[in-house]
Amino acid sequence: MNLELFTYITLTCTSGVLNLFLSLYVFFKRHQYTSIASLFIAYTLLISIYCFGTAFGLMSETLGEIKFWTVILYIGMPFSAPVGLLFVMQYLGINALKKRYLSLLIIPLVTFLMVATNDFHQLYYRVYEVDPVLGAPYVYQEVGIWYLVHGITTFSSMFVALYLLMSHWRDIDREYRQQLAALMLGQFIPMVTAFIYLIGLTPPGIDPVPVIMWVSSILYLWAIGYSRLFRIMPIAKTTIFNSINDGVIVLDSSRRLIEYNQTTEQMFPQLTKAMFGHEFNIVWKQLAGEPFPFQAAETAAQQELQLSGADGHSFTYQVRSTPLHHGLHHKGQLLIFTDITEVKVLQLKLEHLAYYDELTQIYNRRAFFEHCKQHYTEAVERSLPMTVILMDIDHFKKVNDTYGHAVGDMVLKHMADQCKGKLGGDQLFGRYGGEEFVLALKNQDLNEGMKLAESLRQHIENHPFQTEETLLSITLSLGVATATHLSDESLFQLLNQADKALYEAKRTGRNKVIAYHEEDRIFGTKSGT
Ligand code: GH3
Ligand code: MG
Ligand code: MG
Repeated sequence: MNLELFTYITLTCTSGVLNLFLSLYVFFKRHQYTSIASLFIAYTLLISIYCFGTAFGLMSETLGEIKFWTVILYIGMPFSAPVGLLFVMQYLGINALKKRYLSLLIIPLVTFLMVATNDFHQLYYRVYEVDPVLGAPYVYQEVGIWYLVHGITTFSSMFVALYLLMSHWRDIDREYRQQLAALMLGQFIPMVTAFIYLIGLTPPGIDPVPVIMWVSSILYLWAIGYSRLFRIMPIAKTTIFNSINDGVIVLDSSRRLIEYNQTTEQMFPQLTKAMFGHEFNIVWKQLAGEPFPFQAAETAAQQELQLSGADGHSFTYQVRSTPLHHGLHHKGQLLIFTDITEVKVLQLKLEHLAYYDELTQIYNRRAFFEHCKQHYTEAVERSLPMTVILMDIDHFKKVNDTYGHAVGDMVLKHMADQCKGKLGGDQLFGRYGGEEFVLALKNQDLNEGMKLAESLRQHIENHPFQTEETLLSITLSLGVATATHLSDESLFQLLNQADKALYEAKRTGRNKVIAYHEEDRIFGTKSGT
């Protein structure tokens, strides 16, 4: 092998290796580069096939070997210029993946088939044989009609790509012009080389384009490494993506994780880039320990999620799921996480304030009525009894007058706590007003109501309140009434009846339980005195 040939092979292989490296490099970083990546991967891969095919062709010793490697290099070469054009279009914001643009690849496909079957029709090479003077691997060739079609396609593609890049020169921001220049040179160099080759200014039998392709590769490598090629267009989007306070996660159409922003990283510190490409359900299991609630991605949905952080803190997120469409095609899913933990805590506080009595921490009058109405309606619908007990502290005014309002408050709290301790979960207990309390008992008749009232009365009597100086005995008067649902009575009437019974308890000496009875107005007495 002579030195000249050796140099050609070395340079061609260098171009092949560099392009293969670029292809793999971008392939592994494809999630960072949007849709441009796939075209660039294809472009550099095609060029590397072209280069390696050429290099092996130059090492051939027989016509058979030369032909074989020619077919191999034609897997890459005819496609490279049109795919390069599509790449440039996509880079400039023209959607190159549309069908009408992809039809550019039909001619290269025919070219490849023509070359592979040339022996049968000689439409690509009229003559193709080992150079009689120079010998293998040099070739003597006479071009056929399709060779011209291929040449025109290749040149037009390169020319249009260059033209498009040049026409965007003015529009593009100054700081990205170096990048644009690198791309222009990357297109220009093979174009000029191919032109020189075509007009016969290069050594015979050797295609100089792959020999020179390493220069384009270096330019692209620079563009990717130093001026962050592919990042021009998405740069603003990336900044916004990372600066918003919501966590954003992007899934592809197979629900694999392909991107997340910085806020998501802060929300889920276990999330790493190594999880890219993983099925999101599996990723989510690792992050939250539970299945992800959104399964179908076809429609927009939203939901609240409660998660515990590593330090045991609980977080509430509002998660919005939005399907991503491109035309009619489902492309993936966008998940937006808004941290509503603080809002939720505030909401709970407000709810608590609205529903609970601040002093005794039991239902206030409004909350009691709200719940009691539901219970009452249910009881009416299912013809079940319902009993209410009204209770009032005896001579409470005296407590205030003797020990002061603060002690009075403590007595109220003591009284509520003592009752709470005696009550079960499905009894509604509320502060009716001042020193009056109310109890609603679902599915309990008058007798059961009387028993409970009496046990409460005794309990309070037996548990005096300890002030700093003395033991303060407290007693309760209680009125009990049961809804029979026989007449058209209302909840209001029921409470009114309990109030009448309570009044009767007060009137007849206090510290006692009185039940209301329709017929003789007051019925049943239990008393501690
Ligand atoms: P009776 O045995 O007839 O019920 O007598 P009583 O003194 O308990 O009843 P009265 O209705 O005359 O007095 C109720 C008192 O309760 C008057 C009011 O100042 C006091 N009170 C109402 N709400 C509160 C409160 O939140 N804290 C305190 N410390 N006192 C309250
Ligand atoms: Mg009272
Ligand atoms: Mg009272």
